[in-house]
Amino acid sequence: MIGFRVQHNNTSGPFKGGIRYHEHVDIDEVRSLATLMTWKTSLLDIPYGGGKGGIGVDPTKFSKTELERMSRRFFRAIDPIIGVNVDIPAPDVNTNAQVMSWFMDEYSQIHGYSPAIVTGKPLELGGSEGREAATGKGTAIITRESAGKWDIDLQDSKIVIQGFGNVGSYAAKFLHEYGCKIIAVSDVTGGLFDPDGLDITSLIEYNNKNGTIKGFSQGDLVSNEDILNIECDFLIPAALGGVIHKMNVEKLNCRVIIEAANGPVTPPADDILFKKGVYVVPDILTNAGGVTVSYFEWVQNLQQFQWTEEEVNDKLENKMVAAFNEVSSMMKSKKTSMRMAAFAVAIDRVAKS
Ligand code: NAD
Repeated sequence: MIGFRVQHNNTSGPFKGGIRYHEHVDIDEVRSLATLMTWKTSLLDIPYGGGKGGIGVDPTKFSKTELERMSRRFFRAIDPIIGVNVDIPAPDVNTNAQVMSWFMDEYSQIHGYSPAIVTGKPLELGGSEGREAATGKGTAIITRESAGKWDIDLQDSKIVIQGFGNVGSYAAKFLHEYGCKIIAVSDVTGGLFDPDGLDITSLIEYNNKNGTIKGFSQGDLVSNEDILNIECDFLIPAALGGVIHKMNVEKLNCRVIIEAANGPVTPPADDILFKKGVYVVPDILTNAGGVTVSYFEWVQNLQQFQWTEEEVNDKLENKMVAAFNEVSSMMKSKKTSMRMAAFAVAIDRVAKS
């Protein structure tokens, strides 16, 4: 098996980005994800650069002991190029707080107690309040700000969410709390649709208990392909990359796409949507809540201090709204798409620093 750590840019601060375990991991994927991290941290004005890592394995075929041995060996191998002020890994696809604990322990055996070497740790080892919900919360904040920008009545808006994992379910929870109507959601097994709005609180409870939305009592069944075509104000793809492409983009029926997943809209589809006047709020803005609270975790670790959930959420709110407003101004002054505006803000900041 081969593992990678790519360090794309550290002009504005230490390299920052997750480590994923997936059989499709290769050097090109890790390079492109590392690049995106540079623009994401820059856009949020966080003093970090961009990095990413991964091991090309299917972790479901491993025992817990094998996973631990592999994780520790990988971290020891990258030890010479990482550090609390050099490169700070985090969880990504198929890695979690347990893997971060092994990483931290391995590093601490060499360098002494060092919680700031990774983020996404359990609370007991210096993790941050609010980290688990952060990407979904950030997605909800960005949806709310988009409603204000494009004069959509948030309380009256209809929302469709593809994917009901960490990001999708927390986004649904917070949007539901804002008073929005979530009319359809899906996971890998398929979707549920109710034009009057799903009972999100019960659905989250059901999903937490069963690990899927399949079998929930409310809503008509809908496929993952058809869920994208439901008429709505906000379509939130929160599962996989590349789900909105040249072949299905004409069938969409939404006013705004909020890219909660990484890269859910392909470049050709993006061009078509721009010409049709459908707004696309880009991933590097929408899903930046996760890395923002990762940054807060690191800051708390360096100070050996713990913030309350309320403090974390207030700071997250401020960062997300500031980035949204900056991108909006750039969009207006350059008369361009929101994605182009987000990249312009991010690249400009790196260039200046
Ligand atoms: P997750 O594994 O918790 O959830 C993924 C969800 O997508 C699950 O509900 C799963 O059933 C569903 N899904 C899988 N295949 C599907 C398919 N073919 N059709 C429809 N649904 C399908 O993952 P997550 O952490 O929620 O991440 C979702 C996306 O958000 C990914 O693109 C990830 O890269 C991105 N993201 C996540 C974070 C984070 O903090 N978790 C941060 C930034 C970006």
